[in-house]
Amino acid sequence: MKLLMEIFLAPCQLLMKKPILVSSCLLGCRVRFDKTSKPLPKECLVVLEQKFNIVGVCPEILGGLPCPRRPAEISKNHQVLTQSGQVLSTFFLKGAHGALNICKNYGIQLAVLKSKSPSCGFGKIYDGTFSGCLINGNGITSDLLIKNGVKVINESELDAWLKTVKE
Ligand code: SF4
Repeated sequence: MKLLMEIFLAPCQLLMKKPILVSSCLLGCRVRFDKTSKPLPKECLVVLEQKFNIVGVCPEILGGLPCPRRPAEISKNHQVLTQSGQVLSTFFLKGAHGALNICKNYGIQLAVLKSKSPSCGFGKIYDGTFSGCLINGNGITSDLLIKNGVKVINESELDAWLKTVKE
């Protein structure tokens, strides 16, 4: 009887898990500008997978940028630029709207996004001078998701936040 219950409950629990958007580089995909990843600690990923249905996205790839690519930052006039001044704002906006569409299509209301990125950053981003200085602000995708009601956290907050999530 217990086994029967488990067989029926397992798919139901899967269906009941909420979807969550996660930056692809945090899932181990080598999609960063320098073709590397920044995977979450294994134990964190295991808990995340237990509690949510994970939907990975890299807004910069979604927006049409190659990998590897030149690093970019958000300038004071809100354009996304490479250090040599190439304007990439259109790609970043396309990726942000693509990520938002994924959220809408899958009913996603939560996102764990990579800190400091000009796309995924939440709370702090580089200041646009390519000097390593951080300022308060959000990446293009984080900003759009937040404005559309998606709760965003970054990977440094994830461990503490997961402890507050009920199964
Ligand atoms: Fe990671 Fe986001 Fe940058 Fe893609 S855009 S590499 S998902 S931080």
